[in-house]
Amino acid sequence: MLWPNRELRGYRRVIIIVAPTVTDPARSTRLLTTTFLLGVLTGAAYPVCAQQNSTIIDVGGSRLHVIIENSKFRLPERDIVDWIRRSADTVVNYYARFPTKQAYIGVRAAAGAGIKHGRALRHGPTVNITMGVESTSNDLEVDWILIHELIHLAFPRVPDRHHWIEEGLAVYVESIARANTGTLTPEQVWRGFVQGMPHGLPRAGDRGLDFTPTWGRTYWGGALFCLLADIDIRKASGGKMTLRDALRGIVNAGFDMTDQVDSLSTVFTIADAATGTLALTVLYDRMKDSPEAIDLSSLWDQLGIDTQQQEIQFNERAPLAALRAAITAGDHTRAAERHYKDFTY
Ligand SMILES: [Zn+2]
Repeated sequence: MLWPNRELRGYRRVIIIVAPTVTDPARSTRLLTTTFLLGVLTGAAYPVCAQQNSTIIDVGGSRLHVIIENSKFRLPERDIVDWIRRSADTVVNYYARFPTKQAYIGVRAAAGAGIKHGRALRHGPTVNITMGVESTSNDLEVDWILIHELIHLAFPRVPDRHHWIEEGLAVYVESIARANTGTLTPEQVWRGFVQGMPHGLPRAGDRGLDFTPTWGRTYWGGALFCLLADIDIRKASGGKMTLRDALRGIVNAGFDMTDQVDSLSTVFTIADAATGTLALTVLYDRMKDSPEAIDLSSLWDQLGIDTQQQEIQFNERAPLAALRAAITAGDHTRAAERHYKDFTY
């Protein structure tokens, strides 16, 4: 989800709605719309109506059922479906597969332009997106919300105290996955991180990530944890392994959003095994119950990110410049070979 403090009441209530088969097309449309809206508002299971009126997208060995509310979108339906396919492809490129065997994507209409809101639900699993009827191709091109929600499908649900990892991963991976496919430039990624990461730093009274459920620590504290983990994994493996390999390890072990785990340590043990490091376990032990002070200025300096200028500029002579370039590179193996050849940590 995007704004945890703005949940609608009843979202977690599960109801099954059976949309009857009718032959009158107009009546069928009304029934589907009613069913769809009820589903959006309650987080209900989509499969029943989806079997009757959905567009199928096969991606990364999985099947997506797309339901677009019958409304007056300015864009033709095929453009919306293509955007969903591109977003799913970005996630497939990062995880080397789609995280679940199937998923339901619901697109609900709203006034105005742009993608307004999104939410991932374990039932289905389902991703609901609210989209302005005036949206243009460019609005879809720059959207990050659908990819954020699709990334939620790739991690098991964890107890509330660990919610920061669910949102932090979605924030961090969304940017990296889009850079890996060339949708975002490295400058855009790092500008976003330089602007956003300070929100994730501990404030007075902070008791560590597991015990400080503020907006900043949940979204950006989690994202900062992911950036530090990505750096630590790359350092520990000489650039051969990355956070992406760790997260693929979780998905390959059979975990997705439809699963619930009681312990974050369990998930991190699986992820660390995939990279042959202890990076996530060690970092989690450091940050879970104490407010570790991170010197962001020093981190940006080491990565070779000049934040003093209006536009982000890179210093290729910085000690971790090669690592920073590899994070946004499309093929991390080739990038690692190129950048780490003469580099030891
Ligand atoms: Zn989210």
